[in-house]
Amino acid sequence: MRNEDLLLIPGPTPVVDSIYDALGEETRAHTDPRFVSRFKKAIERTKRILNTDGEVFIVAGSGTLAMEMALVNTIAPGEKLLIISHGYFGDRFIKLGQAFGIHIDLLQAEWGKQVDLKHVKEHLEKNQYKAVTVTHADTSTGVQASLGELIPLIKQHGALAIVDGVCATTAMPEDMQHNYAGPDTAIDIVLTGSQKAIGVPPGVGIVAFSQAALKARNEMKSVSAYYCDIHNWIPVMHDPSKYFATPPVNMICALEEGLRIVEEEGLKERYERHKAYGRAVRSALRVYGMVPLAEEKDAAPTLSCIYYPEGVDDAAFRAELAKEGVILSGALAHLAGKAFRIGHMGNTTPDMLETAIRKIGEALQKCGHEAAVEEAVSALQETLGSLSIN
Ligand SMILES: *Cc1c(COP(=O)(O)O)cnc(C)c1O
Repeated sequence: MRNEDLLLIPGPTPVVDSIYDALGEETRAHTDPRFVSRFKKAIERTKRILNTDGEVFIVAGSGTLAMEMALVNTIAPGEKLLIISHGYFGDRFIKLGQAFGIHIDLLQAEWGKQVDLKHVKEHLEKNQYKAVTVTHADTSTGVQASLGELIPLIKQHGALAIVDGVCATTAMPEDMQHNYAGPDTAIDIVLTGSQKAIGVPPGVGIVAFSQAALKARNEMKSVSAYYCDIHNWIPVMHDPSKYFATPPVNMICALEEGLRIVEEEGLKERYERHKAYGRAVRSALRVYGMVPLAEEKDAAPTLSCIYYPEGVDDAAFRAELAKEGVILSGALAHLAGKAFRIGHMGNTTPDMLETAIRKIGEALQKCGHEAAVEEAVSALQETLGSLSIN
């Protein structure tokens, strides 16, 4: 491993050597057949992973660009969007929608909880929404959304279901042809970025559109976008030797390798591994008196937001850990200083998690707190072991 630090923030996540190798390949012409075939493979892999019958778009940008592409290509100004938000990233759709003159209704959960289904139902019954956004795993709170309950509700009320998978795609199920409850109850759009659960450096935005989502774009004569207009990208995604705007050649090679790793592992195995990681990390941290913000049933497999025990100074603790090469994130908004966030997704290994649990315990001790390091490591291993993860 070329990495010196253990990057356990909720993205970017640890990058493995084969991905660095792909990223460091010679920069070729975007029309070079050797590159074009890599781009094609990346598109095919994305289509298989999300199992879409529509189109995928892979463009230079971050997750936020992918969010923008999802909204601007499906919801016309003045049409209605319902935002189901479990935190900071769910809320990001508010500003995005406003920027495009979209009419917004917002359902916000108390931080650490999921939005009450009853409220979702009420809103859907009273209003005609063009689309509803759901953040699969909100990176500010570590709360996951129950797609199995939300997607059928959304679809039965005739709205498009848009899933923000930036902290979830490839680590949590997002099969776009899976009907959650009866016909026409599948996800319409999944949007994501390269740097979180996929485990590739930041720089690529990915969006998949179902046939229904593509139809929504076709029904609008024009959209308030140029780079983000999927109609400009469809010819490129069908034939990547075509030019619309220069693709991030090296990043697409890195993404193709990242997706190869995903497919080699297998989606089912990857989902199980992430579930185990989430449970294991949280049970280990509980040994240190560190309590997750979310209840286990609502907690995301990919990252956790964890309260400090009484008296731990956030900045001092994370600085101590950083000296040891373990990088964690602070919490956002009103939780800043009171909690931290730890990512456990993508190409993170059980060994990395064990190192992190040890170093977190040692950093606590250095900050003058008690920490039963061996007990915490056992709790981690027990949970990982019980799910036959090695
Ligand atoms: C990180 C994140 C985003 C924003 O992605 P960027 O790549 O930072 O633009 C959006 N949604 C979720 C759920 C995220 O975790």
